[in-house]
Amino acid sequence: MLVLDGKIASQTVKENLKSATQKLLEQGKRAPHLAAILTGNNGASETYVASKVKTCGEIGYKSTLIRLEETIGEEELLQKITELNNDDDVDGILVQLPLPKQISEAKVINSINPDKDVDGFHPISVGRLVQGLDTFIAATPYGIMLMLEHYGVQTKGKHAVVIGRSNIVGRPMSILLSSNRPHGNCTVTICHSHTVNLKEITLQADIIIAALGRAEFVKADMVKEGAVVIDVGITRVEDATSKTGYRIKGDVDFKNVSQKASAISPVPGGVGPMTIAGLMKNTMGAYVRRKLSQEL
Ligand code: NAP
Repeated sequence: MLVLDGKIASQTVKENLKSATQKLLEQGKRAPHLAAILTGNNGASETYVASKVKTCGEIGYKSTLIRLEETIGEEELLQKITELNNDDDVDGILVQLPLPKQISEAKVINSINPDKDVDGFHPISVGRLVQGLDTFIAATPYGIMLMLEHYGVQTKGKHAVVIGRSNIVGRPMSILLSSNRPHGNCTVTICHSHTVNLKEITLQADIIIAALGRAEFVKADMVKEGAVVIDVGITRVEDATSKTGYRIKGDVDFKNVSQKASAISPVPGGVGPMTIAGLMKNTMGAYVRRKLSQEL
């Protein structure tokens, strides 16, 4: 059984981006620049943004973190995004979700310049993905594709079952795996909370992508012998024995499923680091595309 270690796979991606950034600097060019907006004091969001900013530093990117109050108004946030859209020094804009309840996520996502949409959530990015055009792919599905590539997981002709249909994970994942592209060409079934007989479907899967956000939901009796299992879930489960008072659990019962799977990603240390790698690749992509269009 192969452990799909996201720390190792993401390191390779980061090292490649670091040497590409060094080359840019040697040529007298500036480094790619990611601007992140963090609203409020959500603990998980704080952690995610901190590790994105830290990774920018490791690679040599410039990063700007903009912290806004939980009480920020929608107009004020949209104004901030307009400023970043118009700032020629900024290549990628990331607005950490979830947003405070008074703010429409759709409006915010739509307001980001699609050329700087490194999270890949803008309808233009999604539309281009569906049509198989060059685009920003949402960081988590992109990271999973990079993980499949790193470990040489064969996907062509396989039956992939994606559990979850969210715009940020399940839906784009199902599009990528079904597309005619490297590490695609699967036959894909996408499942959600209204799926009947989920277990019957997962038992037919050569590849399972679990992205539903229910701790240890995927049990060994739902998995075919030899399947590849990718665990996207991150759920904080109370644990008095841990320093933080909680423990992070994935959507897969790792201990038992790993006895049947041919390859499995752990939580933590699986899809999480790959998501950051995907974001970093998107940021370099934004930089390169913007530079090219400016030089023409
Ligand atoms: P989400 O928006 O809550 O979507 C969950 C999806 O799972 C929905 O489509 C839902 O169906 C489906 N679902 C819920 N219960 C189900 C059940 N019992 N059977 C089948 N389907 C079910 O969540 P998300 O944003 O996609 O995130 C999913 C998980 O991944 C979360 O734990 C999140 O924290 C984690 N995540 C991790 C990363 C990372 O970097 N590792 C990144 C993003 C998200 P309906 O559509 O019918 O409601």
